[in-house]
Amino acid sequence: MSWEDGVRRVVPYVPGEQPKQAGIIKLNTNECPYPPAPGVRRALDKLDCGSMRLYPDPESGELVKALAEYYGLSERQVFVGVGSDDVLAMAFLTFFNTGKPILFPDITYSFYDVWADLFRIPYERLPLDEDFRIRTEDYADRECGGIVIANPNAPTGILLSLSEVERIVSANRDVVVIVDEAYIDFGGESALPLLEKYENLLVVQTCSKSRAMAGMRIGFAFGREKLIGYLSDCRFSFNSYPMNRPALAAGTAAIKEDAYFREICDKIIETRERVKGELKELGFSFADSRTNFVFAAHERVPAREIFKMLKEKGIYVRYFAKPRIDNHLRITIGTDEEMDRLIAVLREYLGKQ
Ligand code: PMP
Repeated sequence: MSWEDGVRRVVPYVPGEQPKQAGIIKLNTNECPYPPAPGVRRALDKLDCGSMRLYPDPESGELVKALAEYYGLSERQVFVGVGSDDVLAMAFLTFFNTGKPILFPDITYSFYDVWADLFRIPYERLPLDEDFRIRTEDYADRECGGIVIANPNAPTGILLSLSEVERIVSANRDVVVIVDEAYIDFGGESALPLLEKYENLLVVQTCSKSRAMAGMRIGFAFGREKLIGYLSDCRFSFNSYPMNRPALAAGTAAIKEDAYFREICDKIIETRERVKGELKELGFSFADSRTNFVFAAHERVPAREIFKMLKEKGIYVRYFAKPRIDNHLRITIGTDEEMDRLIAVLREYLGKQ
């Protein structure tokens, strides 16, 4: 017997690279290319360094209030965490405890199986169809311990309609269905209105993408009061002060600045649609992304080669060496200038192949 026999062993999730050198074009972790709302800077400037000696508000009251007001919910329907990763991990811990396998797609956010392994939750991956679409019928009438769906899905970028999401939620009323809406603001319809009808639904969103604050680590979730109550009980059995003072101030300011939020989402959508056309001309194909990234394969040149070439030129995109998707690149939508440079480098390289 060794102390190592008592260790909880896990294979951690590997996030996209955060290269240190200046001057690179970073299109590999779906960050927003624009700065946070101007009110965020003002809120951070107003922070009193002296106040840091005091613990932050355990209830994250100010941020919860801003979210409840913005999304038209009661404060007891809102949960916040340290990025949506933290919210999702807490939700797995809280809701997936029957011992029956939880369900998620074979191609989706690759943190889901890591949390399941960490918490010893059995799971089953249900294959996407050949066009990478979620087969909603596979999630109906299945005995399971819960369901987690990213909508739009990542890394495919494909969106389910609200009625397709509802089909999954309504067919599984005896378990919790988590809808991870990290990318919903780039052209999707949120499952939020379904909360009126379903008490088994948790909708998870984040300030990391559409609110341009990946660095602040702010995620949030919405559900019925009872469901959020259970989630909070687990949260407060783990850490009483998840959100630090700067994150609370920045998050509250960002949620209140609706016009800026809409402006950057519209801009990213506009750039995405333009880039789709240019990538198509260069021989790439992809599903209709409703996110801030495009998941593309080239008709002739393997994705791994393009990935390496781009990296040498200082352009970072994401490549997954995984079954079914190892000939795809996930390309985050950056500024127009960044995307112009990407397209120019691709055009030159592919012209020579
Ligand atoms: N869900 C999905 C589908 C994601 O792609 C990401 C980003 N890696 C997250 C959740 C987590 O984002 P964050 O913790 O920054 O909110």
